[in-house]
Amino acid sequence: MSDNSLRLVWVYPDLLSTYGDQGNALVVERRARQRGLDVTRIDVRSDQPVPTSGDIYLIGGGEDRPQRLAAERLHRDGGLSRAVGNGAIVFSVCAGYQILGHEFVNDQGQRQAGLGLLDVVSTRGEGERCVGDVLADIDPRLGLPQLTGFENHQGVTHLGPSASAFAKVRMGRGNGTGDGTEGAFNGTVFGTYMHGPVLARNPLIGDLLLKLALDVNALPPADDRWYEALRAERIAAATQQPA
Ligand code: GLN
Repeated sequence: MSDNSLRLVWVYPDLLSTYGDQGNALVVERRARQRGLDVTRIDVRSDQPVPTSGDIYLIGGGEDRPQRLAAERLHRDGGLSRAVGNGAIVFSVCAGYQILGHEFVNDQGQRQAGLGLLDVVSTRGEGERCVGDVLADIDPRLGLPQLTGFENHQGVTHLGPSASAFAKVRMGRGNGTGDGTEGAFNGTVFGTYMHGPVLARNPLIGDLLLKLALDVNALPPADDRWYEALRAERIAAATQQPA
């Protein structure tokens, strides 16, 4: 980051924004402005090069065919991988998360190479699609409150040795491997299966991205009353027993 200016890059909104992923960009943008940062948001369509000079990159969820196209184009472009090589922060959701791994199974049933930015491999789950509300405890090293979100995926993601689980599910499937893990991270690269959009439901994850970008341990507090009310409502709804 230079001075007070933050470059926020939203990768491929034309392909990977099926689940209200713009909300994640809006949350990071707003929380950065609340802390006095001068934010430039760069929405990069899939026919444009991914800039390598961003501070934070967001990549969202999508259906199987757009996911294949996005992975092909990101490979060809190379910008996101170069940005990570420069120390950029990446937060990815569902299809975006699978693309950041070594490989996933595409809409044609073929194993397709991901970007290898996270040590994970996604296969096609044999069982029912993972759909529903999730509550999970985020890795305590990240210092974040409980994660809430909504999952909707067929892929199952296996973590390799250099990836840490982002969270452990209390409710829901997460990575779908049956080991209770949800998402993955390594350094400044994060992946999760949580929609919601996840940063609107868990704004302190947005703050974590800002702290990493600013290289600080704390940020001035933000007014979180609306977020807290939404979180309380979602947690109550998720834990309610069916009648
Ligand atoms: N197509 C992927 C899957 O089903 C990702 C879906 C998504 O982004 N929600 O696993």
